[in-house]
Amino acid sequence: MTGSLSIVIPVYNEIDNLDELIHRCVEVGQSLDRTWELVLVDDGSRDGSSERLIEAAEADPDHVKAVILNRNYGQHNAVICGFSHANGDIVVTLDADLQNPPEEIPQLLKAIDEGNDVVGTIRMNRQDSVFRRFASWTINHLVKKTTGVMMHDYGCMLRAYRRPIVDAMLQCRERSTFIPVLANSFAKRTTEIEVSHAERSAGTSKYGFMRLINLQFDLLTCMTTFPLRLLTWVGVMISMLSVAFGGVLLALRFILGAEWAAAGVFTLFAVLFFFVGVQFIAMGLVGEYLARVHNDVRGRPRYFIDSVHDETVLAGSARPDETTERPKRRLVHS
Ligand code: UDP
Ligand code: MG
Repeated sequence: MTGSLSIVIPVYNEIDNLDELIHRCVEVGQSLDRTWELVLVDDGSRDGSSERLIEAAEADPDHVKAVILNRNYGQHNAVICGFSHANGDIVVTLDADLQNPPEEIPQLLKAIDEGNDVVGTIRMNRQDSVFRRFASWTINHLVKKTTGVMMHDYGCMLRAYRRPIVDAMLQCRERSTFIPVLANSFAKRTTEIEVSHAERSAGTSKYGFMRLINLQFDLLTCMTTFPLRLLTWVGVMISMLSVAFGGVLLALRFILGAEWAAAGVFTLFAVLFFFVGVQFIAMGLVGEYLARVHNDVRGRPRYFIDSVHDETVLAGSARPDETTERPKRRLVHS
């Protein structure tokens, strides 16, 4: 099984890395015995990266494709744009800063050929700051808890996806996406392999503190609406505690007498807590509706068909599926 390959790379102000990046990717592509292409997406760079990408595409039009966005839309949007221009049976994503060595791509392809839909990577001796690593650690643990998909390193973008997974992601209309999590929500078989990780070859990280926080929220809302449901649980807890509090107050009132209860002030607190709880429950209910609206707005495919085996007399007369079958797209050049 040797399907064609698209390598998708988002580029944002990476001028000093581009020559080496393209050179190394092309070398890897040529060493493979499959059809391949390199899809470079310029995410609104202002340092001349886009001109360099266009030059590269013109120099090797059979293999290199440049897509230039008119402004900066963020890494994940740039990758999604790359997906929609990729024609390969297998799509590999990586970063433009050479932190993910392109030489690891054959390893990823091997894992895909073994029957996996998504191949993630674990960065060996990671070359990032302590703060950056802490952020990743938090993300990975959170995702593991909520999606149940065991992956150790959601942050590493050196990943391989099979075509049906890419098509499924392209059908999602949501704007805030975290691609590795989205991909896993459609994948049946996933695996992770260990890859080496280098220091950023040139330039600086594009993720400052606020962008990282934003990314964490994208990730959270991409995978779960549980925080909305949490409101209901908090409300139920507060209400139950207030009822217990009321019971204790009543008992103490009889044991210790009327003066102890501070002329009913404590009782007022119990009543107040009860209504605070009720308010939380009401917010939680609104949250439940919001979660459903959120799901509908995202418009993710409900399911994705692998294949249909239909030899019945009515074959072909079924109503067209709301989710599409896999489009017939193939790499044409070699
Ligand atoms: N990137 C992008 N748009 C952005 C920010 C980043 O296309 O708005 C690209 C960037 O050029 C690089 C990749 O996304 O190829 C990862 O960015 P970076 O290396 O800065 O992130 P880090 O390694 O710090 O997570
Ligand atoms: Mg990087």
